[in-house]
Amino acid sequence: MNSQQIKELYAENVMETYARFDVVLDRGEGATLYSPEGKAYVDFTSGIGVNSIGYGNRGWAEAIMNQAVRLQHVSNLYYTEPGARLAEALTKGTGMKKAFFSNSGAESNEGAIKLARKYARDKYGPGRESVITLERSFHGRTITTLAATGQDVFHQHFFPFTEGFRHIPANDFAALEAELGRGDVCAVMMELVQGEGGVLPLDKEYVSKAFTLCREKDVLLICDEVQTGIGRTGSLFAFQQFDIQPDVVTFAKGIAGGLPMGGILANHRCAGVLTAGTHATTFGGNPVCAAAALYVLDTLTPQLLENVTHKGEYIRKTIESWSTPAVSQVRGMGLMIGVSLKGIKPADVVGRCIEKGLLVLTAGSDALRLLPPLTISHEETEKGLALLKSVLEELQ
Ligand SMILES: *Cc1c(COP(=O)(O)O)cnc(C)c1O
Repeated sequence: MNSQQIKELYAENVMETYARFDVVLDRGEGATLYSPEGKAYVDFTSGIGVNSIGYGNRGWAEAIMNQAVRLQHVSNLYYTEPGARLAEALTKGTGMKKAFFSNSGAESNEGAIKLARKYARDKYGPGRESVITLERSFHGRTITTLAATGQDVFHQHFFPFTEGFRHIPANDFAALEAELGRGDVCAVMMELVQGEGGVLPLDKEYVSKAFTLCREKDVLLICDEVQTGIGRTGSLFAFQQFDIQPDVVTFAKGIAGGLPMGGILANHRCAGVLTAGTHATTFGGNPVCAAAALYVLDTLTPQLLENVTHKGEYIRKTIESWSTPAVSQVRGMGLMIGVSLKGIKPADVVGRCIEKGLLVLTAGSDALRLLPPLTISHEETEKGLALLKSVLEELQ
């Protein structure tokens, strides 16, 4: 099918829940995607932080194929090897105690919230159900994770939302102290670099003080690493660069290199909270997804993670060096990069980039978000940056 035919089938048959760009994608190689007609796009999005090891990776595809012909799925009432090995790789790589596997970021966060509420209820009885999250956060699209999300635009249409969520400004320690002082809180949930909200890294000092305060109050600290995790910021998880050991970490996007998978890691204090019958999911830890994830984790060597840091610095410095007045700030960690724009709309930049053969994302109302595959080559990086520069100069 050509691009036009595909778009027409969508228009007739697919719910219009996405403001899709005028791009049809058919295949990929490295960090480059192609339309059915062969138009090339340098990919600075990775399917929103998912395709951590790029496209056309034969080793990854073979790991999936080998597992698929051996055993594609069994119920979680039985044991399988890929899930066991993946949980071990994740606990060893993080110092966390145990893992639970799910299928998406929102589902992982829901599970973490259930875990936190049960932790407090088991220990203190009712009365500690509240969860504190940050303004400008994003935690998912289910009714509960929308309630957790600290952006008013998400709190429409679907009333009633789940009760028990309060949002406070990021990096405001006094606000956190006040909320925890009320004695009704079971958990604080935060993204260490807010992704959808604008690529906003939290202050290290704030995070470290929040961690200490949570410990004092026996409130669980949940790090939503759905976007920041799995090498994106230059370490396996972003918390490893914040000198804290969270009680719960959630992940999804990048874990399986493009197959749907997510999960929860819990430390020794709360790894036993979710007991048989209290939490489950049919596909969680699916052997094919787990095999793909094991391949991704094997690929994320210390050398590759160091490269992620260097590539991120290179991209940030390069954009900072442009004399265009359209850029007001460049920020981020590793290959999670935010570019604040001045005088031009992010959506216009995205549209013009598409015409020229570059995919970029927006974040918040005034920023571009760059999430290239962690394996992007120097050549593809240079090509993408040159395209972005030409678009910004044209629109400035
Ligand atoms: C994408 C994202 C989610 C939601 O993940 P889904 O897989 O779309 O449910 C949750 N939290 C953060 C930080 C995210 O970036």
